[in-house]
Amino acid sequence: MSDCLFCKILDGEIPADVIYESETALAFRDINPQAPTHVLIIPREHVSTINDLDEGHETLVGSLFSAAKQIAAQEGLADDGYRVVMNCNEGAGQSVFHIHLHLLGGRLFNWPPG
Ligand code: 5GP
Ligand code: ZN
Repeated sequence: MSDCLFCKILDGEIPADVIYESETALAFRDINPQAPTHVLIIPREHVSTINDLDEGHETLVGSLFSAAKQIAAQEGLADDGYRVVMNCNEGAGQSVFHIHLHLLGGRLFNWPPG
């Protein structure tokens, strides 16, 4: 997708602080962190929202969670805990329409979320 910010990061057109790469996913630090660790984990394939996923994407989505587990361990968050969030559409706060898992850690989180 030529006008997609995260596709541009995948293509190297826009720089990012990349901390994890796999065949199917890429992870980089959020530009406006909401916690001491705030990482975005994205699939290499462009999918706009959760609503656009189908059965063929199950392995791809699973790989985002595998990445989250590895990054949490790498960042020293595994034992204390961390949060993973994927917003779907504007009403939930999605602002970039290429699905991404937020991985947040390093502070306490409230429940329910705001
Ligand atoms: P959303 O609101 O769609 O769930 O999350 C989008 C996230 O992308 C936000 O947390 C925002 O700070 C982050 N973001 C927006 N533009 C950029 C950018 O150019 N680089 C990086 N690293 N993060 C970005
Ligand atoms: Zn994209």
